[in-house]
Amino acid sequence: MVMGGMLGDNPDDDYFVKSHDVKTQNDSQGCKQGVVMNKEKCTACRNIVRPSDGVFVQIAKEYQLLCINCYNDMMAERFGIEFDNVAFIPISLKDSDGMSHTFHFRTKLLGDRVIIDAIESLNDDQQGYEFSVLGGADEDLFDLFKILFERIKRALQQKHVEPDDLTLYRITQKDTVRGYITSDMDADTRKPLLAIDGKEISWSEFGKMLVTFEGFNFKLEIFDKTEEK
Ligand SMILES: [Zn+2]
Repeated sequence: MVMGGMLGDNPDDDYFVKSHDVKTQNDSQGCKQGVVMNKEKCTACRNIVRPSDGVFVQIAKEYQLLCINCYNDMMAERFGIEFDNVAFIPISLKDSDGMSHTFHFRTKLLGDRVIIDAIESLNDDQQGYEFSVLGGADEDLFDLFKILFERIKRALQQKHVEPDDLTLYRITQKDTVRGYITSDMDADTRKPLLAIDGKEISWSEFGKMLVTFEGFNFKLEIFDKTEEK
């Protein structure tokens, strides 16, 4: 969710990326851009755009929705890059508890760089695991994919939280929490939300989990979604 921005260095550029996330009808309450999108079609190829694969692009004065392939084609043309869209098929992997997690992949060209996102597919609109890897647009996408795949496998073997009787979850004995920061789209006012071990954990729930550590110090480090630490 961090990749919006100008497509070129020229401030007079006709193209501007509005958002990389197209929200479904269920998200309408708190949609980041206030736009309700459901079964929208790509302006260029007219194919239906998956909710997680749409990109809003401002062309002249109008915002248009592009599917990821048309977006990549446009970027490749603009930057004079040879780029072949590669569709990685969804994969399912088990975590350390034996639970299966299915990921679909999105490859997005960002000028001379390319990002591959792995997004867990969940039925109930919840935010699950997400991983990303960044490389050069001229790199072999399959090599990048391998890095991403290994990263997912490593992450699925890590557990940072576990069920608890008093709070929903507690931090495991390793005393370390990894996850990503997102927000609660259904809240009236946008509230921070964390995704830890592929589970949504509200800021308030996370606060309760910290109560047992009263008196301890902590270190909170924030880094790009394409990094692994
Ligand atoms: Zn398209």
